[in-house]
Amino acid sequence: MTLLDVAETHPACTVLGPGSRYVVWVQGCGIGCAGCVSPQWIPVDHSRARDVAGLADDIAGRAADGLTISGGEPFAQADAVAALIAAVRERRDLSVMSYTGYTLEHLRAHGSPGQHRLLGSLDLLVDGPYLAHRQAALRWRGSANQRLHFLTGRHAGLRDAPDHSAGLQIEVAADETVRWLGVPAVAGFRQWIEDRLGLVPSDTFQREQNR
Ligand code: SF4
Repeated sequence: MTLLDVAETHPACTVLGPGSRYVVWVQGCGIGCAGCVSPQWIPVDHSRARDVAGLADDIAGRAADGLTISGGEPFAQADAVAALIAAVRERRDLSVMSYTGYTLEHLRAHGSPGQHRLLGSLDLLVDGPYLAHRQAALRWRGSANQRLHFLTGRHAGLRDAPDHSAGLQIEVAADETVRWLGVPAVAGFRQWIEDRLGLVPSDTFQREQNR
């Protein structure tokens, strides 16, 4: 059994890659960008381990156009993430996009076999650490140093699309829980919205309303 530490999932996100995508946010990151929008997902936490085969069943059973892996740092669990992608594609041939705090050049030059296998599984990669002083409103990225790589031809038609923010996805559940996902276009957005909506930290999703 292959296990992957998973912080959260969402079955239908429209702001983290093309179309509607199943998103897996992995738990654990050793990079430590100042201003990281998901600090609760930085610590390694094996209590969040999920069986890759079961997760692949759930992903393939949904209506999403693609799969996006974010976090946390997907390449810190490269073997398990690559195994997840392979298991998903045994079930459905989905587009796959990943984020990483490493650069593509670093991964190609110094990556482990698992990291190379993961790179070879991706259609799209957003690379580089989040740098708050280079905050920018770009397509699926938060800072100007981060690049969108088209690693296959699957999304070649999007290469010349406007490179501006995809915005945020806001959801209000029946119990009035407020959730948001996506890449904020402005620095300090997380603190800003928490202050205005009375949100409090949550380790179950991005943020939940405190009632
Ligand atoms: S690489 Fe991503 S998860 Fe890790 S600290 Fe940077 S922004 Fe946060």
